[in-house]
Amino acid sequence: MATIERPSSAFLTVATFVGFSLYILGCTPPKPEQQEPAANNDQAAPEPDQAQADTGTTGKYSPVKARARDFYAPNTEDLGPDEMRLIACGTGMPTARPKQAASCWLLELGNGDKFVFDVGTGSAERIAALQIPYNYLDKVFLSHLHTDHFGDLDALFVGGALAGRQRPLRVWGPSGETPERGTKYALEHLRKALTWDLDGRQGLTDPRGYHFDVTEFDYMGVNAIVYQENGVTIRSIPAIHSLDGPVSFIVEWNGFKFVFGGDTYPNKWYAKYATGADLAIHECFVAVPDMIEKFKFTPQGALAVGTQIHTAPEAFGKVMSIIKPRMAVAYHFFKDFDTTGPISDRIRTVRMAIVDEDVWPPPATDKPQLPDPAARIPYSDAISSGRLDMKKVIQPTYDEINKQYGLNEKQE
Ligand SMILES: [Zn+2]
Ligand SMILES: [Zn+2]
Repeated sequence: MATIERPSSAFLTVATFVGFSLYILGCTPPKPEQQEPAANNDQAAPEPDQAQADTGTTGKYSPVKARARDFYAPNTEDLGPDEMRLIACGTGMPTARPKQAASCWLLELGNGDKFVFDVGTGSAERIAALQIPYNYLDKVFLSHLHTDHFGDLDALFVGGALAGRQRPLRVWGPSGETPERGTKYALEHLRKALTWDLDGRQGLTDPRGYHFDVTEFDYMGVNAIVYQENGVTIRSIPAIHSLDGPVSFIVEWNGFKFVFGGDTYPNKWYAKYATGADLAIHECFVAVPDMIEKFKFTPQGALAVGTQIHTAPEAFGKVMSIIKPRMAVAYHFFKDFDTTGPISDRIRTVRMAIVDEDVWPPPATDKPQLPDPAARIPYSDAISSGRLDMKKVIQPTYDEINKQYGLNEKQE
């Protein structure tokens, strides 16, 4: 178990959430000696391994007593006030894959703050599996505007508002070399693309969540503060990837330093400002031979993309040897038994997580606003005229709900 402990007894916990199953890296399970202190204080409590080996000859330690789990179940481990937990909701690639969503990292702090770093393709359902009320999932930081890093923003934006986020979705993201390549432009146009979706929800659901609150910052900022609230400081540094614009983020809170590296060729800003991080995430692309054989890249394309636009595994190792973090995480490759080899030994103890796949949204933290029928945008006559007459079959449902909730709702 790779718990990182500080002298202050604060903990840093890391969870990875790779596919339909989640994987947890270095978490903070209860220690047997904390749960079941030795009756005789003169005797030091045995180490966990000893406790497990002691099959009851002394009567103090039963082999069935609670001990560190080898899986993580959402909502079963409270975060202490001085702890930090990171859950990898997506670690994959631009091509969607049932097993593995694309880049998305949920950072939870003991002060109650939660931050989503990237929300790549397929990651919204991984976030949903964690059963966190959506009002807590209102802060998203985008490293860049590739779909494997923001392709599920629409799902979190609309689905989150529908299920309890009663406030705008705050999004931080970099500018580009031109306004059209910036985060603000992308989100303005994403919202425009959702015109039909959002118009159709007017008057039916709480409208407060269907807005973006975008903070676009200079992608060339070096260790520049982009967020500072509630004791949390988040800074950005440039990254080198595809076009001007991508960045990485550095989070500081409670003496912890967490660095989320977006896609990049190894760069000097990361080397300098990620140095000494408690936890450093950096991309690590699929090895070139696998890109050619499995991904069907041309050799030329595999070399260019796998070693120049991204960070090759060999280069990842070099970067980490420079910055020497207490814990390093590599991502951005399809994590299979035969692709992980040279990378997995850099990743510490992994716990599989078990989630409820039948999950429904968690309860909203505030009461929703009632639908406002006057705000609804009506169907055109042509569409309205296509309605089949369902009044008779639906009326019993109206009667049932009106009776149960003391209402007087009528069919359209
Ligand atoms: Zn990218
Ligand atoms: Zn990417």
